[in-house]
Amino acid sequence: MEQNDCVFCNIIERSIPAKIIYEDDDVLVVPDILPKAPVHMLVITKRHIPIVSSMTEADEPLFGKMIFIANKVAKDAEVDETGYRLSFNVGREGGQVVPHVHLHVLGGKQLSE
Ligand code: AMP
Repeated sequence: MEQNDCVFCNIIERSIPAKIIYEDDDVLVVPDILPKAPVHMLVITKRHIPIVSSMTEADEPLFGKMIFIANKVAKDAEVDETGYRLSFNVGREGGQVVPHVHLHVLGGKQLSE
């Protein structure tokens, strides 16, 4: 169920503009608005799940799909051979700012840490 005050729900609902890199029934991929690398995309769940730690066993296929699609868009962005990072920020100390599950896809430069 979408949340009116959620930026990613608003992107999914087309209430705010974004370049859609990929979309299917389960996920949407957009460029990060403040990219931390030459390639920085977000694989966003269509369903409003606030935080990765709230996933249930029934969500296992969805999270597997997020990684599958992340690999696909990384290949399309031509960072598959040089490598890339997939990361979930979980909660405050994990650096999560937007409370709607998303997987970061970062590449196009040597990443530190
Ligand atoms: P996190 O810190 O894991 O919650 O990451 C949230 C990410 O969403 C940040 O990297 C933001 O730059 C990004 N972001 C916030 N608003 C938008 C937007 N409207 N379109 C694309 N990316 C966004």
